[in-house]
Amino acid sequence: MIDKFLESHKLSGAEYLTLLEGWENQDIARRLSQEAVRIRDHYYGRKIFTRGLIEFTNYCKNNCYYCGIRNGNRNAGRYRLTEEEILKCCHMGYEMGHRTFVLQGGEDPWFTDEKTAAIIRRIKGEFPDCAVTLSIGEKSYESYRLFREAGADRYLLRHETADETLYRSLHPAGMSLKRRKQCLYDLKELGYQVGAGFMVGAPGQTLAHLAKDLVFLQELQPQMAGIGPFIPHHDTKYGDEKAGSIELTLFLLSVIRIMLPAVLLPATTALGTLDPTGREKGFMAGANVVMPNLSPMENRRLYELYDNKIGTREEEGESMESLAKRAQSAGCRLVSERGDAVML
Ligand code: SAH
Repeated sequence: MIDKFLESHKLSGAEYLTLLEGWENQDIARRLSQEAVRIRDHYYGRKIFTRGLIEFTNYCKNNCYYCGIRNGNRNAGRYRLTEEEILKCCHMGYEMGHRTFVLQGGEDPWFTDEKTAAIIRRIKGEFPDCAVTLSIGEKSYESYRLFREAGADRYLLRHETADETLYRSLHPAGMSLKRRKQCLYDLKELGYQVGAGFMVGAPGQTLAHLAKDLVFLQELQPQMAGIGPFIPHHDTKYGDEKAGSIELTLFLLSVIRIMLPAVLLPATTALGTLDPTGREKGFMAGANVVMPNLSPMENRRLYELYDNKIGTREEEGESMESLAKRAQSAGCRLVSERGDAVML
């Protein structure tokens, strides 16, 4: 199947499954990563784009069973950043060289559409050369439109899994895959650069589920894809599950790069959490984005989606220097650019 995939860059669901069944074969993995890097270099060169991540609230009305900041977790200390604090993160991030800010949070009704739009307008007003990415979950078409009009450029909303049954087992009743997908199509229609994605090794997930995720990404044609290993959080019902595999994650990153050649593909924080050189490995598998944390140190440890998330201790402050070194060791270079998606 590898030959067919390398030739056509596109497979059916059944064929993706066959391809994925070879993930432990190092020869196949190597051929995939070589082609992925070649394609990435063709569209983006050896540039690694940075996104300054601002985790502005960890209040959430949802209760996704895998997530440490789910509503039902009474042990989570909650916080919200003020507008001033958010702007301060942007100023600091701009000085560091970031030209994209990602506002990520739980689904927090305290941030009404009007408040959120006002924050977007302020960031775009003060940093007209920067892109604003939102990652604040499922909203109505009207809300997405308001944010877009306020200046938001991009939106990250992982679909989490493209399999109905698995989706239901990971989320409480009331959340649905259908709705999640609708949000993604709405965002596309509104002209956002859209990011979908999923966790690798989520509880109950099989290779057949992952093949469905690939087919969904092939259909959606997102400009960005967020793929990271599942990592258990002690205050969830999956606290004793094992984490997703680094190698399978890297394999999937390469497959996605080949399938969506101009995709912006982060080497995720989860990858760096499970393996100290995970992000370097991600770049070598075809990733070209890294998303360091700009949130104030005292809030970071509270934005605990999973255990041992990196960047939460003073000494591991993710300086641009250390990220530049990581990029370099993977034969790449960190750049200070917006890093918009190349349109095919
Ligand atoms: N509330 C926003 C942001 C979610 S947090 C939204 O709904 O989009 C960003 C991502 O973290 C999620 O989409 C999920 O895929 C990932 N995540 C959550 N819990 C995780 C865990 N235990 N391990 C790995 N990734 C996790």
